[in-house]
Amino acid sequence: MSVQALRDRLQALEGKSYQAYKSLRGHHLFADFGLHIDYVQGDPFAAPSRLRVEMPQAIAQFPTALYSTTARCIALEDFLIRQFDQQVRAVARAAGSGKSGMIDIARPSQAILPRTAAHVSDQVVELRFVVGLPAFGRRIAGRQCAELLCEQLPALITKVLVYAQLDRVALQSHCDCAEAAEILRDQLRDRQLVAFIADGAVLPRQSGVDERPLSTGAVPFLSPAALRTSLRLPDGQMVTGMGIPQGVTLIVGGGYHGKSTLLRAIEAGIYNHIPGDGRERVVTDTAAVKVRAEDGRSVAGVDISPFINHLPQGRSTQPFSTQAASGSTSQAASIVEAVEAGATALLIDEDTSATNFMIRDRRMQALIAKDREPITPFVDKVRQLYADYGTSTILVMGGSGDYFDVVDTVIALDEYGPEDVTEQARAIMTTYPTERQAEGGAEFGVLAPRVVTPNSLDPRKGKRAVNLKTRATDEIRFGIHTIDLSAVEQLVETGQLQAIAAALVYAQQHYFDGQRALSAALDEVMADIATHGLDCLSDRLTGELVGFRMLELAAALNRLRTLKINQL
Ligand code: ADP
Ligand code: MG
Repeated sequence: MSVQALRDRLQALEGKSYQAYKSLRGHHLFADFGLHIDYVQGDPFAAPSRLRVEMPQAIAQFPTALYSTTARCIALEDFLIRQFDQQVRAVARAAGSGKSGMIDIARPSQAILPRTAAHVSDQVVELRFVVGLPAFGRRIAGRQCAELLCEQLPALITKVLVYAQLDRVALQSHCDCAEAAEILRDQLRDRQLVAFIADGAVLPRQSGVDERPLSTGAVPFLSPAALRTSLRLPDGQMVTGMGIPQGVTLIVGGGYHGKSTLLRAIEAGIYNHIPGDGRERVVTDTAAVKVRAEDGRSVAGVDISPFINHLPQGRSTQPFSTQAASGSTSQAASIVEAVEAGATALLIDEDTSATNFMIRDRRMQALIAKDREPITPFVDKVRQLYADYGTSTILVMGGSGDYFDVVDTVIALDEYGPEDVTEQARAIMTTYPTERQAEGGAEFGVLAPRVVTPNSLDPRKGKRAVNLKTRATDEIRFGIHTIDLSAVEQLVETGQLQAIAAALVYAQQHYFDGQRALSAALDEVMADIATHGLDCLSDRLTGELVGFRMLELAAALNRLRTLKINQL
């Protein structure tokens, strides 16, 4: 259908029952682009209609240099989404019932992520978004819809998808910024670093619910001489900052001196950030995982025996299953699961840890004998994790010096400024021995692979074969069950949860065959996404999926309360 035909059709629909909008489904040819109406909502209050615009590169004309690498291409797509989002908000929304006149695209966070809402190739530039088709009551507002789709939308699309219309300097720096972060991150493993925090980085955020940088009074990051290192950018420029070595690192310092803020910046360093974020050059090993205590979570067949043994009433921890873990058992399970899913580093904050999981000092060892205490504290296992599995740990711990004996690096924060105090900590260690008995043996222990019991995931709800919903970054509704992800802190967009939910269904359909190990099955899912893109997870073209790591996919699976495991 041409624009004129679409306009005429909409005029003719004026005042008709809302269902008549269904006839709009299909492809409409505009002067500069094609408009696909893939799904039409059933009424003005229902989930909005799904639209897709494809503009040929002959018209959009993005220089290939802007999308020549994966990181750049994702950054370009990210920029277009942000541009669309901004432009939409500047347009006054038409009156009407329900979602009338609403235009919405996957709302980006401070991170630059792959999203199905935009796609750039040599041939076309594509954008996916949703629109609330206008109505008065339950009657079609045809003239308004014609205004929206045939006038406002083309104006909007031209502003967003035509290269010459964009702020080229801002776009260039968006792509450069992402590429630089990617290149810095790529150097970490060769340099045997877990993370790198560039000098001048701004780590504190606006608030606990606002991820934008603190606008006033932020003290920029300055690396201590002993940990200062330089990484190279593609143009030959060197970036100096603090390198956190592999192994076991302790972050100490007085309360409110910025310890948790530093750790959170490291957590976020798995993602590239937009220019102006403050953490553009804070980069972390791609498989670093935040782990915390999470009492009440479910655990399915996880061998937590390296940490916890001989529970009361002879309960086994090899494997251990529960619908309501304690602080310590939840933290133990999350660590074992992270290692299973390929974590190269654990990021742990005392603020969100179970005390009895982290420490057990000399006096407590004297009072409660080891055969009465199921828990082997993390302090006795953290080195073995590195020696046996190559998993580093960065630990914020202002409350116990017992860790001095097991760490490689100690960083102290003073008024937000880091110092290397490894030598002082070593000296204190000899002056004041902890006199603790090491517990839990000389090795971390062998972790048996788990196998997902086929059909222990059920996405059905009522008549719907697949019912998936998300709430913010906290919750997936999977069938009739809820997966609580509020303690999985490296998820930053609800679209990641949408994609993870779809990936769980996909894994169930293709790879949970009762044979493959859980991690091998999830590896296959990630490989399919790497080859075919996020769209392979869904049988419809949606703009709501956002990229995620296998570690968070595993975290969601592990928190599904129906999950059943066969031990091999
Ligand atoms: P800690 O974990 O050591 O108790 P936090 O990391 O929670 O401390 O930081 C305490 C407060 O200081 C927070 O409000 C945080 O936003 C702020 N803050 C952290 N780092 C900086 C900084 N570099 N400049 C300014 N304020 C900061
Ligand atoms: Mg803290």
